[in-house]
Amino acid sequence: MSARLEIDLDAFAANLRVVRDRVAPAEHMLVVKDDAYAHGLAPIVRRAWSEGVRWFGAFDVPTGSEVRAVAPDARIFSWLVGSRADARAGIAAGLDLGVGDPDLLEDVATEARASGAAARVHLKIDTGLHRNGIRPEQWDAVTARAAALESDGLIVVEGVWSHLAEASDAEDDAARALFDDAVGRARAAGLRPSVLHLSASAASFARPEFRYDLARVGAFAYGIRPAGGPAEAELGIRPIANLTAPVVEVAGDEATIALGSLDGFPSTLAGKAVAHTPGGSRRILRVALDSIAVGAWPAAAVGDTVTVFGGEAPSVTDHAELIDTIGEELALRVSPLVPRVYAGE
Ligand SMILES: *Cc1c(COP(=O)(O)O)cnc(C)c1O
Repeated sequence: MSARLEIDLDAFAANLRVVRDRVAPAEHMLVVKDDAYAHGLAPIVRRAWSEGVRWFGAFDVPTGSEVRAVAPDARIFSWLVGSRADARAGIAAGLDLGVGDPDLLEDVATEARASGAAARVHLKIDTGLHRNGIRPEQWDAVTARAAALESDGLIVVEGVWSHLAEASDAEDDAARALFDDAVGRARAAGLRPSVLHLSASAASFARPEFRYDLARVGAFAYGIRPAGGPAEAELGIRPIANLTAPVVEVAGDEATIALGSLDGFPSTLAGKAVAHTPGGSRRILRVALDSIAVGAWPAAAVGDTVTVFGGEAPSVTDHAELIDTIGEELALRVSPLVPRVYAGE
C-alpha cells in the first residue's frame, strides 16, 4: 500500500468539452508541458486525441517527440527549441516550432535544408513579457527574412504567437495591440500565417477577443483553477487528480499516512490545511519527510484511505492559497515516484 495519484480521465474529458465549447470557434491547443502538469503525458494525450483534441502544446522538443509517438497525426507545438540538434529533431518529428529569435530562425532553416523537409514555424513577437520573443523593432527584418526562407521552400510560417503576462487587463490589452500590429506587419511582408495564438487558460476563458485561432489551455483542462480567481463551478471545470495515501498508524487522536514532503506535499501546509478522511475533514497536523499526521476520527484504522487534495479534499489551488502560491506548483511537486493510477482509460 502506498500513496497514489488517482487520475479520472472521464473528468478530464468533461473538462476538455467545457474548454472546447468555451473557446469556440477558436480551437483548443492542449498544453501538456511538465508531464501534462504531472498527470502523465501518454494517457492524457491518448484520451485528449480520442476526445477530438488535434493541437498539443508540448513546450520542448523532447516532449513534442513523445507526443508524436502517442498521437502520430497531431499538430504539436514546441516553443523551446534550444539548439541546432533540437531544431533537427523537431523537423524530423514534424513539430510546429516556436521561433522567438533571429538566430534560431537561421538554424531552423539550415536544418530544414539538410533534412529536405520544410520546417513549420510559428514566429513569436515579444509583446512585453521579455521572455524569448522577437522584439518589435526587429520584427520587420525577421518577417522579411522568413518570407525569403519560405520562398526558398525551407520553412512555412504557419503561425504568429505570443504569451501574456496576465497580470492586469490593461497590460494584456497593450500586449494584444502589439500582437495585432505584428500580425499586420507579417502579412505586409508576404507571410500568410494560418493560426494566430496569444492566450492561455485565464484570458481564453474570460476574454473572447484574445482567442484568435488557437487557445493554449493547460491548467483549466486539468481542473486547476487560478489562485485568487473564479471557483471551479463558475468555470465549469473540476479537478481530475486526487492524491491519496493509506493510514499506516493510529495513535491517540492522530492518524499517520504514508505520504510526506519527499513525495511532494508541502510541509508549510502543516497546521493550515485539511485533508479528507473517512470521518470527514481533519486538520493536517504535521508533515514529515515520509509521513503526515492528521487528526484521527472515530474507528480510524490502518489501511483507511485519506485524500490530501482533489475529490472531497481541498483542491491544489485551495491549498496553494494558504501558502501564497499557485495550484500548478502543488500539482507539479507530486513526485514522479508516486504511482499514477488511471480511471476511465
Ligand atoms: C504553460 C503555458 C500555457 C498554458 O497556460 P495555462 O495557464 O496552464 O493554461 C500556454 N502557453 C504557454 C506559452 C505556456 O508556457
